[in-house]
Amino acid sequence: MQPITKSNWIEGKVLEHINWTETLASIKIDAKVKPYVSGQFTRIALEINNEIISRPYSYVSSPLDNFLEIVYVKIPNGILTPKLGKLKPGDKILVNNNSYGYFVMNEVPEGDNLWMIGTGTGSGVFISLLKTEEPWKRFNKIILIHGVRKENELTYQDQIKKFNLKYPHKFIYIKSVTREKIKGCLNIRIPNGINNGKLESISNTKISKSSQFMLCGNPDMIKETISCLNNKGIEINRKSKLGNITIEKYW
Ligand SMILES: Cc1cc2nc3c(=O)[nH]c(=O)nc-3n(C[C@H](O)[C@H](O)[C@H](O)COP(=O)(O)OP(=O)(O)OC[C@H]3O[C@@H](n4cnc5c(N)ncnc54)[C@H](O)[C@@H]3O)c2cc1C
Repeated sequence: MQPITKSNWIEGKVLEHINWTETLASIKIDAKVKPYVSGQFTRIALEINNEIISRPYSYVSSPLDNFLEIVYVKIPNGILTPKLGKLKPGDKILVNNNSYGYFVMNEVPEGDNLWMIGTGTGSGVFISLLKTEEPWKRFNKIILIHGVRKENELTYQDQIKKFNLKYPHKFIYIKSVTREKIKGCLNIRIPNGINNGKLESISNTKISKSSQFMLCGNPDMIKETISCLNNKGIEINRKSKLGNITIEKYW
């Protein structure tokens, strides 16, 4: 990772600020940063009391878009996000010129089916990845699972419909809302859905060593899901030994 210095920052402009809920929002930004790869994250910053305060955010946009986009949760008493929440179109925002991270298709070994599992804002990075051709070319089936607490946290439904229309025979989208019972959505925690076979039956896809998993978001979900998959003989992908699970923890 390169050091964060003032020269790494590009001054961008907020193009659009979308409030999905009171605490969940996304920002589209115009900033000429160095090229990035879908699945990577940048750092977003604001100058607060003469200090640059930054946090990492995965791109929701893909390199094919002519804007940058991130989705974020407004953390009560958080240092940066309450300030991000106040930005309006036209306001300045700092974006790191460099992009970081290895949650990218190049790091995912070959397989037959790809499970993309995210909770909360953790589904955003999959939107970026699925906007590119690579995952669709490499895998016969892609199962996107989004776990949220409430229905209104199911972001990017329009974009997901586009994936459905473009890849009807390859794409399976499963949503689970844990704190509400919603028609058309599961009402289970993801690790439970793996343990009890529900996610396999709904997607009509067997979890096996020819499956690849990408997990992103809440560290508890990631830890528990890895443990469930380990019980099925599926292991983390490492540089030293290829496996089937690639992860990105948000905190
Ligand atoms: C590689 C990477 C990519 C990330 N990408 C995203 C992203 O795309 N969207 C995003 O919202 N966050 C993302 N994060 C987390 C983000 O960087 C910040 O931690 C978050 O925005 C809080 O900033 P803050 O200064 O307001 O809160 P802080 O004062 O720094 O408080 C941090 C605390 O907030 C909680 N928290 C952090 N992130 C979340 C979250 N997403 N949902 C619920 N609780 C959270 C945790 O308890 C954490 O300890 C990412 C983190 C990493 C390491």
